[in-house]
Amino acid sequence: MNDKAGSRPGDIEQIRDDIDRIDSDILKLLAERKAHSLRIAKEKGIHDRPSRDQSREEDLIADRIAAGMDHDLDSGLVNRLWREIVNDSVRIQQEFLGRTESPRRAVTVAIQGIDGSYSQLASQQFFDAKGISVSYVRAQTFADALAAVQRGDAEMAVLPIENTTSGAISEVYDLLLNSRLHFVGDVRFRVRHCLLGIEGAAIADLRRIYCHPQAVAQCSEFLAQLDHCEVVYFSDTALSGKRIRELNDPTIAAIASEEAARLFGLAVLKNGIANRDENYTRFVVVAPEPAEVPDGVPSKTSIVMSVGNHPGALMDALSVFHDADINLVMLESRPIPHNPREELFYLDFDGNISDPAVQVVLETLTRQVRFLKVLGSYPSRDLRPKPIEHKVTKVIPKGRSALTDLAPTASMPKGYKLGSRGHKEQNTIVEISGVKIGGDDLVMIAGPCAVESWDQVMATAKVVKEAGGALLRGGCFKPRTSPYSFQGLGYEGLEMLVEAGKAYGLPVVTEVVSPEDVEGVARKADILQIGTRNMQNFALLSAAGRAHRPVMLKRGMSSSLDELLQAAEYILSEGNQQVFLCERGIRTFETSTRNTLDLSAVPVLRQRTHLPVIVDPSHAAGDRELVAPLALAAQAIGAHGLMVEIHPDPETALSDGPQSLRFDQYRDLMVALGFGG
Ligand code: PEP
Ligand code: MN
Repeated sequence: MNDKAGSRPGDIEQIRDDIDRIDSDILKLLAERKAHSLRIAKEKGIHDRPSRDQSREEDLIADRIAAGMDHDLDSGLVNRLWREIVNDSVRIQQEFLGRTESPRRAVTVAIQGIDGSYSQLASQQFFDAKGISVSYVRAQTFADALAAVQRGDAEMAVLPIENTTSGAISEVYDLLLNSRLHFVGDVRFRVRHCLLGIEGAAIADLRRIYCHPQAVAQCSEFLAQLDHCEVVYFSDTALSGKRIRELNDPTIAAIASEEAARLFGLAVLKNGIANRDENYTRFVVVAPEPAEVPDGVPSKTSIVMSVGNHPGALMDALSVFHDADINLVMLESRPIPHNPREELFYLDFDGNISDPAVQVVLETLTRQVRFLKVLGSYPSRDLRPKPIEHKVTKVIPKGRSALTDLAPTASMPKGYKLGSRGHKEQNTIVEISGVKIGGDDLVMIAGPCAVESWDQVMATAKVVKEAGGALLRGGCFKPRTSPYSFQGLGYEGLEMLVEAGKAYGLPVVTEVVSPEDVEGVARKADILQIGTRNMQNFALLSAAGRAHRPVMLKRGMSSSLDELLQAAEYILSEGNQQVFLCERGIRTFETSTRNTLDLSAVPVLRQRTHLPVIVDPSHAAGDRELVAPLALAAQAIGAHGLMVEIHPDPETALSDGPQSLRFDQYRDLMVALGFGG
């Protein structure tokens, strides 16, 4: 700025002093204004008033612009300044209202890393803003930090999930998907990487740099200039600083925060070394229970879903948000581990799970996606220009008329909802590599009761395929009534089943009997079977609900159809929507057959649920001669599929030989059912 003509240096000093004094007054007044904002927040809290009153905010700004004009102040300047001031007041009030919700003032938080790590600094930022003090459980890995919360050693964990330079932190995404914790908050932390060395170290003399892989990615351009140095990976930024302090070697540096430098008494050799100055990491705060967000505080919800891979599947899912006028703020995709054909989509959107409009959106989504899990709703850290007022309208999926819209929740059957016709009128189609269960075509599943050997399963797969079968079955983990009976070949058998399936182009279905094995079996098998003896093994059902494979749920031998549907609900409510049911005979007074095939289950289930229903005549009959007539009856009554046991030599079968069809009987049955012939 040019000095005014004629002013002398002494005058300028005086004027500058005056400006300093005025600025100091402005700051004092801003602090005073802030105190008043807080008093208003307290009043709003007491009288349960919403935290924002947009029309008052607009009136206030208009008023200040007019008053500013009286003082010859530019209206644009006043507008900008007061918008900032008002936004700050809103933030102060919202934080206060959020804080009054939680009576607790101290929490135990698990983080990966030691003091001075970015996780700790981000946690500090998050909890400081809420006036909550923190004590830390310092874990070595992200998994350990989550485990600390699951064990109850910490109330929450704070984990980095994505960085604006290096992208998603996939390990954390995968861990969170498998944990049962809820997102209760998030924080955007500005990461300022520095090169740290011991006092007296010089960049030119460095030979080695200790560095977290994320920091290597985010500072790659700077590191490329230091080609005289070897980069040594370290699991923790702050720990790398601590280590070089211990080594006290001027040829070694670390990349960490300025706070870490202070903490360990290190020198900052260079500041701001990230590729991008604006380098932010988003951390999520997770806890065993969902957050309760007070009314009036804008919130955000995080979900994860998979949509199947037909054209337009993702667009259809996203249009549900569009139709409900809900703003999406983040979409991230991640491959499903061990299931390369599908992707998981992580979404954040404005709104709270308690909003009726959000509930309608989620209900609508469960009708059309393959997997859906709500990770949590929590206060949004961003101020949005408008309060979020969603249109509370029912979202009617394309192709359905308003007349067939779902019945209100109150009239839903007791004990299950997601599986009911009331929730979803259209039939669910479970699709596995092009095989569709629940459509118009009868799907045939066949194979041995148990996988016994390479030769047995290969020979069976060939016959299954050639006669028109769609899926290969075979038990590897056998839930036998007696502990002395053959228990199956386990994972070795699974390998054989999967190879045989691949050899003949047949997806495979196999039983899983314990929650711990769900992940391992889902890695290889195309469909998870839950057997009659485990229909009410709720831990197993929930674990299958978290898997990304379709589940065939067999009816418990002494269970009612509503109990079967409630068991299915365990799977659906965990997120997995790819479920089909199997009637396999129930226990009655009749002893002529192994079990009594309850054929009425098929039409009754089809009335009550949109899930596909198949029939297993083999376990019902217990006698191979009865399998064909029961199979034909099941086809006639509208089953979506059949599962039969077949064996190359039933007399030597290690399990269920008497009910296993010989190959020629199976071929004849297939012809009778209308397959080829
Ligand atoms: C099976 O299909 O292998 C089986 C054991 O069936 P269920 O659970 O119906 O007895
Ligand atoms: Mn069997």
